[in-house]
Amino acid sequence: MSNRTGSFKTAATDLILEVKDLKKHFPVRGGFWRRVANSVKAVDGVSFTVRRGETLGVVGESGCGKTTLGRTIMRLIEPTSGDAFFYSNGRGGQADGSVDLLKMEPSKLKPVRRELQMVYQDPFSSLDPRQTIGRILEEPFIIHKIGDRAERQERVAELLKSVGLQTNHSSRYPHQFSGGQRQRIGIARALALRPQLVIADEPVSALDVSVQAQVLNLLVELQSEFELTYIFIAHNLSVVQHISDRIVVMYLGKVVEIGSSESLYERPYHPYTEALLSAMPVADPNAKRSPIILEGNVPSPLDPPPGCAFHPRCRYASGSRLQKCQSEHPELRALGEDNTEQGRMVACHFADELKLRGAFEEQMIDAGA
Ligand code: SF4
Repeated sequence: MSNRTGSFKTAATDLILEVKDLKKHFPVRGGFWRRVANSVKAVDGVSFTVRRGETLGVVGESGCGKTTLGRTIMRLIEPTSGDAFFYSNGRGGQADGSVDLLKMEPSKLKPVRRELQMVYQDPFSSLDPRQTIGRILEEPFIIHKIGDRAERQERVAELLKSVGLQTNHSSRYPHQFSGGQRQRIGIARALALRPQLVIADEPVSALDVSVQAQVLNLLVELQSEFELTYIFIAHNLSVVQHISDRIVVMYLGKVVEIGSSESLYERPYHPYTEALLSAMPVADPNAKRSPIILEGNVPSPLDPPPGCAFHPRCRYASGSRLQKCQSEHPELRALGEDNTEQGRMVACHFADELKLRGAFEEQMIDAGA
């Protein structure tokens, strides 16, 4: 069940995206002949589904591969292998049916690109400083040969209104706006062609905390108005808590846990998810938190640890568990009450026996409730 109010809902089985075993390995060259000596496994065998109308949060520390994942699905980066089936409902003129985004010829991508758009972390660097906002927002219509000049300007005015800006802003340049306003422009540009799926890559992390909530609320409102599905990439769980229906947690290029937002915050199954939850800020100033400190940084994807890649930082990898944690890679498997492919999945050998702390449980105990 959704914990949000903004999303439109369709049948739970109505998929819009199905990612299967997606890999993106960057070759590392060395030596005099610049031969491929190794590879950085930025995304290493990631699979998940996205239902039409939902918001899927993708969370992990920097270096976990979440941004590369988003860009590879968009084909801004070429994949190493895998599939990403996009199921169009034909809304944008695209034939009703599925296409494998990762296998399409680059020349055939243009019509599909209308249906998938990206909102970037840094709106300033993604907006051309020499162009007015009106021109920036008009560009997608020009590229796709939509409308005449008057019609395009009408659509630009509608877009500006949709994101809470004034129509007379169209004659201004990007530097004349605040960070929050620039992100609104970035969102308006992404929505210009009425896409079905929007991948938002850390869209609020460059903004002041006071502005973050406004932009998040705007995204929720627009989801309903434009019938959007979101993949929302973030580096911590607090940003995605109130807007995600389901969450994918990534560590070192792999998915370590998937679950509905509600169940994952209440009962994490993976120790990495537990640590991320413990680091979430608490609204109650009297509540005492005991964040789980993850020792060290995310290991290099050039040389990931053997066995469970999380084991050097996992506080449960000790005693009788240690040997298995160090030597056997845990596959992502279904677990818990909703143990379907659409429900809870976890990659930990000991997920059934560990009793991990949920976000709300800890807050209540620590607050003395
Ligand atoms: Fe920790 Fe071992 Fe589970 Fe990996 S498999 S998360 S190291 S307990």
